[in-house]
Amino acid sequence: MGDMPSTPRRGTYDFAFLLNILAGVLIAIAFVTIAVTSIYSRHQKLEESAALTALRWSEVLDDQPERLTPVLDGERIGYAEMLFFETLAHISNIHRYKIYDSNGRVLLSSDKLHRVGMVLTDEPRLPEGFAETLTEMAITMTRSDGTDDPRVYADVFFPVTASNGATGVLEVLVDQSEEQAIYREEMIRAIGLAAGLALIGFLTTGATAVLLRRKRKSDALIQRMAHYDALTGTANRREFVHLLEERLRPEAPGAGMVALHAVDVDCFKLINDTLGHDVGDAVLVKFSQSLQRCLGRDEVLARLGGDEFAVIQTKVANPAQTLELADAMIQATRSIREALGVPLTVSASIGIAVAPVHADNAVDLQKCADVALYKAKTCGRDRRMLFADGMDGALRERTRLRMLLRTASARDAFELHYQPLHRAQDGSLCAFEGLLRLQDGEGGFVSPGDFVPVAEEMGMMPRIGAWVLQRACLDAAQWPPEVGISVNLSPQQFNEDVVSVVSSALAMSGLAPHRLELEVTESLFIHNAAKVGEQLSELKALGVGIAMDDFGTGYSSLSYLWMFPFDKLKVDRSFFRDIEESQEQREVLRTIIAMSQAMSLDVTAEGIETEVQRDFACNAGYNELQGFLYHRPMPLTDVADYIQSKSATHAANATGTAWISEPLAS
Ligand code: C2E
Ligand code: CA
Ligand code: CA
Repeated sequence: MGDMPSTPRRGTYDFAFLLNILAGVLIAIAFVTIAVTSIYSRHQKLEESAALTALRWSEVLDDQPERLTPVLDGERIGYAEMLFFETLAHISNIHRYKIYDSNGRVLLSSDKLHRVGMVLTDEPRLPEGFAETLTEMAITMTRSDGTDDPRVYADVFFPVTASNGATGVLEVLVDQSEEQAIYREEMIRAIGLAAGLALIGFLTTGATAVLLRRKRKSDALIQRMAHYDALTGTANRREFVHLLEERLRPEAPGAGMVALHAVDVDCFKLINDTLGHDVGDAVLVKFSQSLQRCLGRDEVLARLGGDEFAVIQTKVANPAQTLELADAMIQATRSIREALGVPLTVSASIGIAVAPVHADNAVDLQKCADVALYKAKTCGRDRRMLFADGMDGALRERTRLRMLLRTASARDAFELHYQPLHRAQDGSLCAFEGLLRLQDGEGGFVSPGDFVPVAEEMGMMPRIGAWVLQRACLDAAQWPPEVGISVNLSPQQFNEDVVSVVSSALAMSGLAPHRLELEVTESLFIHNAAKVGEQLSELKALGVGIAMDDFGTGYSSLSYLWMFPFDKLKVDRSFFRDIEESQEQREVLRTIIAMSQAMSLDVTAEGIETEVQRDFACNAGYNELQGFLYHRPMPLTDVADYIQSKSATHAANATGTAWISEPLAS
């Protein structure tokens, strides 16, 4: 499939994902840094504070250097000095102090003041490089083992000079337990804060990573939805147009022509309306699968909407080659026998156009394929048609009909004409068939054979059919009681409450139900025969007659004749067309009569144009005859005269069959 522009590619997400991971790593580094620096700065702060305390403390000694002289000289000190040194031990958070001579011998220890004047060599607690402490300050951070008092302290060594110039080293033990506790609290708070921030950071990056992944997935889904049909998984219209244009580009790879197949499910609306949308959807899925099975790697199947599909066939050597694929597709769709467990039959109509023979661009090619498809449908569906010049006339005609139909109901443009039916036995008038007419806007009429299929496509037949029933019943109610009326019903009317429509037409007109006959065609039974059967039984219960119209042209499933309560068969006029030449045709017509008599059905011969046809039908046993030989369909205004004239003729021909000539040789 072609490129999909305008949405982010996978790489974009991977980059964002990497950035996210990087942010996570940076957060981790920041956390470790904060922890390490806070531990390190605690040490530093403790050291600085110890030095400051010691220096401040030593200022007292600096102010009175003469106090140091006896001590550094190794002499015993008097009571006043002892008090002075005793006091010093309690200033600030000094725990203890010692004074050393330059060799590191203890001359004074605050807790052993009574021994001043003796060298206290039993306490050699000297810092490494003690000699340096004679000139500059040194600090040793010490942490006790937990049992000592104080628990945490700093040893500060710094040089002292007595007033007589003697030098020594002063060691001050600064109690830092409290400070340490404060700093630890601060540090724990700092690390806790950092850990909290890091956690938030990690959670955010994690969540962002998850969201990014989700977004990638949902974008991929949106991407799919934008280009593919959700129900069948095939390309959609947008993708189809894109691919068709791509294949039609002169520089597109692959030798040969490009064919476009416009494919429709036959009578899909009927399936949807009668069997429900679930079954309809299942049919569409099966339909697309059966088409797909016929296609090669280079061919593309798309669903353009509803039951409209399209296939792009490439590397076509000649137009005839496209028919092979179309035949295969039609064959494949015929193999669908059920959907969601509901037995049904499916078929396809296909219109084919080939580029550059019929058109060289996507829009025109589609138009040509649609025209060919329309032709395939009007020729009876379940077939394929290759576009040919002149076919677009049919499309124009269809467009014109749609417009006429759209405005017809508003402008009351429908009329009902009546064609008489006569008894074969004595030629008497027995009924009229109501035949719908649509004014073409130019003083003429459009034949229902042309506009009824279009009206069905537009879903208009239930409304139009109801009008026909009312009109026919109202008109017939004015005729002599022995003259009946036949009305054609569209299968679409059975999707709605046709029984109510018929009974209200009867009630409204006051027409006796036995005078009304309803004509249905075999196509009515293709879908949901059971429901149709019920409706026909209900209609019959109203007292109206039911006729099978156009017998022999449709699916010719005789089983329907046994299953449903028909009163009459109307044999299609195509059977009578060739009877003069065709012995076989005559045999068929006689067989139909034999079968109908066995089933106690009346039989009407349609399309009687010649006396030969009339005579054959009479002799073969047909009950009623209809055709141009008697009269063409006429407007209501002519009906009264016709009835009048026929009553007169009938009275004159009271002898009955006198007007029937010799039987046709069999
Ligand atoms: P149909 O029910 O078979 O109606 C008979 C058609 O055959 C009529 O065509 C009639 O004019 C024509 N016809 C009658 N005698 C002869 C003849 O001797 N020779 C030839 N060549 N034709 C003859 P029309 O009026 O054009 O109707 C065509 C079809 O349209 C009807 O066929 C029927 O299927 C449908 N139709 C007509 N009116 C209605 C309607 O009200 N509702 C529905 N659903 N369908 C209708
Ligand atoms: Ca009819
Ligand atoms: Ca007919």
